[in-house]
Amino acid sequence: MTSHHTHIWRTESCHRTSDGLVAYQRCRCGVRRIAVAEPRGIAAEVPRATA
Ligand SMILES: [Zn+2]
Repeated sequence: MTSHHTHIWRTESCHRTSDGLVAYQRCRCGVRRIAVAEPRGIAAEVPRATA
């Protein structure tokens, strides 16, 4: 039996790898997913030039 709903993900564990932060998540309905938070979203923070 399958019911469609908005999954509510709970992180069961997460590990830092060379590709970024990998999180193992599971919804209460039993569906699992692996989420990867890649650190490449922000290349650099550049300080604002003061006038
Ligand atoms: Zn679910």
